[in-house]
Amino acid sequence: MSAMYRSRLLTPGPVELHPKAQEALSRPQLHHRSETAKKVFLQAKAGLEAAFRTKGQVLLLTGSGTAGMDALVHNLFAPGERVLVPVHGNFSERWAKIAQQAGLRVERMELEWGRVVRPEHLESPSGPFAGLLLTHSESSTGALNDVQALARAFKAHFPEALVVVDAITSLCVSPFALEDWGLDAAVAGSQKGLMCPPGLAYLALSPRAIERLKPRGFYLNLASELKVQSTGESAWTPAINLVAATAAVLEELLPRLEEHLALKQAQNQILYAAGQELGLKPVPEVKSPATTCFYLPQGVSYAQVKEAFAKRGATIIGGQGQLKGKVFRVSLMGYSDLYDAYAVAQLMREALGGLG
Ligand SMILES: *Cc1c(COP(=O)(O)O)cnc(C)c1O
Repeated sequence: MSAMYRSRLLTPGPVELHPKAQEALSRPQLHHRSETAKKVFLQAKAGLEAAFRTKGQVLLLTGSGTAGMDALVHNLFAPGERVLVPVHGNFSERWAKIAQQAGLRVERMELEWGRVVRPEHLESPSGPFAGLLLTHSESSTGALNDVQALARAFKAHFPEALVVVDAITSLCVSPFALEDWGLDAAVAGSQKGLMCPPGLAYLALSPRAIERLKPRGFYLNLASELKVQSTGESAWTPAINLVAATAAVLEELLPRLEEHLALKQAQNQILYAAGQELGLKPVPEVKSPATTCFYLPQGVSYAQVKEAFAKRGATIIGGQGQLKGKVFRVSLMGYSDLYDAYAVAQLMREALGGLG
C-alpha cells in the first residue's frame, strides 16, 4: 500500500480498534484466576450489563459472535420446541440454521433481503411458539429492525415465549434496552460496536431468561458459566486480554454513550448522503447506523469497487449470501470521528466517481 494513504478498515466487523483496547492489549499477560483478572472481568461484565441495559446478567464467552448465538439457542430451547425466525439477510438466516441444527422446529418467515420485519408480519402467525429469533441490525443488508415493536406484537399472541435478539452490530452503535424493550436475551461480539479485536461473545440474559434456562452442551453451557461468572471467573480459560480490552473501552464509552450513538448515526447519514450524490441505490428499507449497504453501480463489478477503495488505503466489503456480487458495504462502526466520516465520503466520491 502507498505511504500516501493512511490505511482505513471500513468493514462492519472487525473494525478499527479503540486506543483504550490497544493500550489494554499491550499490558503484561494476566493469569485468569488472579485477583487482578477477576476485578477486570467483573468490570467488563458490569459495563456490558449497563450497555445492554439489563437487570439480569451478562456472560462473556470466548468465541466469535456466532458462538454466542449458538449458546443462546441451545440453552434457552429444548429440541422439538417451535421458534419463529424472520429471514431477511445472512445473519437472520444464520439464526434459522443454528435453530434447525439444534433440533428445534423452525418456522421461517421469508422476507426480501433489505426489508425489515414489521409488527404486522407478526399479527397472525400460527403458533404456538417457544421463541422468536430476531436480528436487530442485519449487517448483511444494513437494515435495522424495531425489535421493541416486534417483541410487543409477538408477545401479544405468545406471552410465554422468549424473544432472543442478535444485537451484534447494534450494541454501542444504536440504542438498546433489554427488559424495557420486552426482550429476554441478546448477543453481541467484541469486534463490532465495542471496537475490540474479534474473539469474545457477550450474552445478556434477563432474569426471566435465567429462570428458563435449559442448559445443554459442555463448552457453551450457560449454567456452568452463570455459576462462576458472578465471581469474576469463567468455567474455562477466557480470552482475558480481550476481557481487559472490553473493560477499558467501556470505561471510556459508557459515560458518553448517548453522544457516541449520535455520532454513529451522523456518520452513517454522511456516507449515505455521499452515496445518494453518486446515484447509488441503498439496500436497506430502514438504515442501521452500523453500516451502509449500496447496490453496485450499473456495469461495475464488486472487484472494481473494492480495488478503487484499496488504491486509496481503504478496505471495504461486498455482499454475503444472495447479495454476493450485487452490493458493497462501507462502515464507520469502529473508532472514528465526524471528520473521518467527511474524509470517507470524499474517498467514496473519488473512488466511485471514476467508475461506471
Ligand atoms: C458479525 C455478525 C455476526 C457474528 O459473526 P461472527 O463472525 O461469528 O462474529 C452475527 N450477526 C451479525 C448481525 C453480525 O454483524
